[in-house]
Amino acid sequence: MAVHHRACHLCEAICGVEIEHEGARVLSVRGDREDPVSKGYICPKAVALADVHHDPDRLQRPLKKVGDEFVEIGWDEAFDEIGARLREIRERHGADAIAHYVGNPIAHNYAAAIYAMGVFPAAVGTRARYSSQSTDNLPRMLVSWLLFGTQAALPIPDVDRTRHFLVIGANPLVSNGSLMSAPGMGRRLAELRARGGRLVVIDPRRSETAEVADEHCFIRPGGDAFFLLAFLHVLFSEGLTKPRHLSARTSGEETLRALAARFTPEKVAPETGITPDTVRRLAREFAAADAAVAYGRMGVSAQEFGALATWLIDVVNVVTGNLDRVGGAMFTTPAADLIGLADVARLRGHHGTYHSRVRGLPEWSDELPVAALAEEIDTPEDVAPKKPGGVPRIRALLTSSGNPVLSTPNGARLERAFASLELMVSIDIYRNETSRHAHYILPPTFALERDHYDIVLHAVGLRNAAKWSPAMVPRAPHQRHDWEIYRELSVRLAGGPVPRAVLGPLTKLALAAATPERILALLLRTGPYGKELGLDVVKRAKHGIDLGPLEAGRLTAILRTKSKKIRLAPPQLVADVERLAAKLGRHRTRALTLIGRRELRSNNSWLHNSARLVKGRDRCTLRMHPTDAEGRGLASGAVVRVTSRVGRLEVPLEVTDEVMPGVVSLPHGYGHRRGAGVKLGVAVELGGVSANDLTDEKAIDTFAGTANLNGVEVDVTSI
Ligand code: SF4
Repeated sequence: MAVHHRACHLCEAICGVEIEHEGARVLSVRGDREDPVSKGYICPKAVALADVHHDPDRLQRPLKKVGDEFVEIGWDEAFDEIGARLREIRERHGADAIAHYVGNPIAHNYAAAIYAMGVFPAAVGTRARYSSQSTDNLPRMLVSWLLFGTQAALPIPDVDRTRHFLVIGANPLVSNGSLMSAPGMGRRLAELRARGGRLVVIDPRRSETAEVADEHCFIRPGGDAFFLLAFLHVLFSEGLTKPRHLSARTSGEETLRALAARFTPEKVAPETGITPDTVRRLAREFAAADAAVAYGRMGVSAQEFGALATWLIDVVNVVTGNLDRVGGAMFTTPAADLIGLADVARLRGHHGTYHSRVRGLPEWSDELPVAALAEEIDTPEDVAPKKPGGVPRIRALLTSSGNPVLSTPNGARLERAFASLELMVSIDIYRNETSRHAHYILPPTFALERDHYDIVLHAVGLRNAAKWSPAMVPRAPHQRHDWEIYRELSVRLAGGPVPRAVLGPLTKLALAAATPERILALLLRTGPYGKELGLDVVKRAKHGIDLGPLEAGRLTAILRTKSKKIRLAPPQLVADVERLAAKLGRHRTRALTLIGRRELRSNNSWLHNSARLVKGRDRCTLRMHPTDAEGRGLASGAVVRVTSRVGRLEVPLEVTDEVMPGVVSLPHGYGHRRGAGVKLGVAVELGGVSANDLTDEKAIDTFAGTANLNGVEVDVTSI
């Protein structure tokens, strides 16, 4: 028996795990007590490291669809055939006719990320790039670029030292932090309260985090930007702003003050459902705290005004002097410098430099909103681009580490659209609801068969740390890593004409056969800790290296704006406030609004094939307030019909006052009984419904392009 130490890659918390194994067989998975950040904590999902590793449904060799069946083929044969088809499609329709979609597990796979985000799209030369980002964190990146000059500047709530934690549309107790790697959040929140700090949660659902909070306020879905403007109104009008060390480091405060003056707590109350007195008290308490921090995630981000709400959270932290300050929103000092990497790789950010064809939606940093993907495939080519320079019709699609049929809005339309593709390739360990439509499936190794270093997630850690995760077992000769798959395809494509490819330094390096490990070593050597924290040092520390708490005073090194100031009122966001203002007074009291729900034993769509994780009660239920249920003659346990503009489904009902009146909640990632071709024995048996058969690809944050997954109007009726 041997003991293997690594970081769990299943979610953003990156807990240290200790795995007992005999060769390739995992015997147990436990928390690593010596991990400097997680200190032994793991959540129930950690067992999926073993369950996915041993899953008999996991694909091992490339598959090619012949007729309606998948047959195994060799790697070289697959690479050659796919490369030839892609080159031929590029010659006929141009590089932009080849689209690429990447799901969020790529953030947990540094080697694949280098190739998937940089090398492969550049080798194709395509601008038709999509990812799960536009159903998730896109507003965070966009706002960081607008305020700080680079999308890589990510403020992290200093949960361990704050005195007042204002959580809006997030459930960190279940997520263990998101855009904040915070393993053991339950302990951290208990410690916050034990030291006299205050936890306040604003959410349409009394989430698990809200259950342990000092105060929870229901808010109407999509009302966050209104709430935050009213919050700022109170701060400005009552003289509660206190920029402290930031006073000479910001621009645009007067514009903000004028904006906030328009949104009194009384005016926005119908949109938020929060009383004016409560808004005033919450703002005063926040301003009075020694150290306070506001934080928001999916509920704030994946909604109609996600960019505005994300911006206003940052503004609250800045005008109260709580940015770049202990106990406030802080910046990490990761060993692999993400901000420097963004500089070198020309990835600081850009917005609207080109657009999607059908709706003319803006790109964000070389990515188009995934809500546009289906229409970009299924709309005939004679529909001209809505804006000059729009991309042409998509003819080929490569998906990687993602299941957009279950995770993007109106998944059913996307699924139908796949039928019109000339070529679809999926890099995936499973034959799932998306990859079953592919002409080729290329299965990469799973985490325990590859090395890993969390370039992205250490950059959002609650504490500065560095940890190398070696492969537990080497990959078998018949297996390929994701990055090897991408490199093979890239080499075949880069050999042909590359119409618009601007091969950045990293892409050139990767195509010159540098391994991801050599690129990582370079990043560490040139990072803030220099040669003293080279890859060899990191590799020797099997539990990880503690680099200390986050430090105040990082702003000067981080800001990339020309003025070297935080742009508090970027004109694009100021202009978008008018879209919000136009909604004032339009709240529909009769409609039900669907929001999502994150659960501890589930992570998006891909852990439902673990029998240990899905056992027990049915978690894919619609939760509804008793008042709404009574008004419709519905009771717990009944199967109800839920209808939106785009779809209809039937799901068991749970009546609970956990959700506010007028709101219903459904988790996403379920709905695995979707027809022939899915090879996920446990998940198919589990069934459930896909929330994204109700979410609407037309309902987006039109400024950012993010899908509105937390504000879908639905009807619920008995069957
Ligand atoms: S919280 Fe759970 S799933 Fe996430 S990294 Fe930790 S053990 Fe893994």
